[in-house]
Amino acid sequence: MSYNVTLIPGDGIGPELTASARRVIEATGVKINWEVHDAGVDVIEKYGTPLPEHVLESIRRNKVALKGPITTPIGTGFRSVNVALRHALNLFACVRPCKTYPGVRSRYDNIDVVMVRENSEDLYAGVEYDLDTPETKQIIALANGKIRPDSAISIKPLSITGCRRIVKFAFDYAVANNRQKVTAVSKANIMKYTDGLFYRVAREVAEEYKGKVAYDEVLVDAMCMQLVQYPENYDVMVMPNLYGDILSDLSAGLVGGLGVAPGANIGDGVALFEPTHGSAPKYKGKNKVNPTALILSGMLMLRHLGEKEAADRLEKAIAAVIAEGKNVTYDMKVDRSDPTAVGTKEMAEAIIAKL
Ligand code: NAD
Repeated sequence: MSYNVTLIPGDGIGPELTASARRVIEATGVKINWEVHDAGVDVIEKYGTPLPEHVLESIRRNKVALKGPITTPIGTGFRSVNVALRHALNLFACVRPCKTYPGVRSRYDNIDVVMVRENSEDLYAGVEYDLDTPETKQIIALANGKIRPDSAISIKPLSITGCRRIVKFAFDYAVANNRQKVTAVSKANIMKYTDGLFYRVAREVAEEYKGKVAYDEVLVDAMCMQLVQYPENYDVMVMPNLYGDILSDLSAGLVGGLGVAPGANIGDGVALFEPTHGSAPKYKGKNKVNPTALILSGMLMLRHLGEKEAADRLEKAIAAVIAEGKNVTYDMKVDRSDPTAVGTKEMAEAIIAKL
């Protein structure tokens, strides 16, 4: 059996990381036909857009993609390809499992939490009004003195549809992965209509899973403190887009940093796997950064494809290399300037040797 998978190398550190991840995934023995497509600022000249239609078409056809990070230039009016991809493919759920592997540089042991972030709504919906535009002035007039006249405005939409499908996704994930509890995170004490709606819908969904999966609620500010003080009290967490963006990085910090934090964006019938980290342009082409987050994203992809044995074997091989602490990149050494740190390729080779 072989699988067709779209591979987007990305830019910055993306191409070297995806090359390593590809080698490791192939070394598990699972047969994959990679359809490689570029996206991002470098393809604009050729295709007139950073996200050409043939890339989307390839993912729609294959239903599975592995992706390296893509840079979002700041202040150019160029929308994030990463956000555009999630919108175009309706990838409404971002799943970020955060797990400590023994030997990783972290202040914590035994962390095993999963962040489920809503991907399509909230302040990321792209409904923004710039300073002094007619729309901004209209909204300011509607707000009856609550907004200063020299404001720019971003709108935060949350819908019953969006809240229901993400909370349901979190509960279904909990059931499928033998998880005990789902915690809904919001700021409903302040945003009574939007985050209030999120909790109202979450409670309704939780009722459907009563007796199977426990449910509780924590406000996002308290959740930040709870996660650094008592991370062992949490299991699956579900939240709107912005809180998910922030808490995912916080959780990555709990388990050893961005170098080891994988992720998946999932929609109806399509799944795109990518690390939490970005394109770290300063390390581009230096064979320096940690391939673990992308390789773990590949491990999640293998699980999604139903290749459980290969995924387990790969996860064990990654864990063994981390536990040994020898063939690991600079960010996994006790001292980041440790000269015995290896490069991206070498760490990937060490993982292959343990398969
Ligand atoms: P970043 O994650 O690229 O890098 C921040 C720092 O984290 C790096 O300087 C490095 O010290 C560390 N780091 C990141 N990945 C690492 C790895 N694999 N191994 C070791 N250390 C690692 O974040 P940023 O600097 O905020 O973003 C750079 C660009 O990436 C921006 O244009 C941003 O928009 C984009 N970005 C893309 C994605 C994506 O493609 N999904 C996600 C986040 C950021």
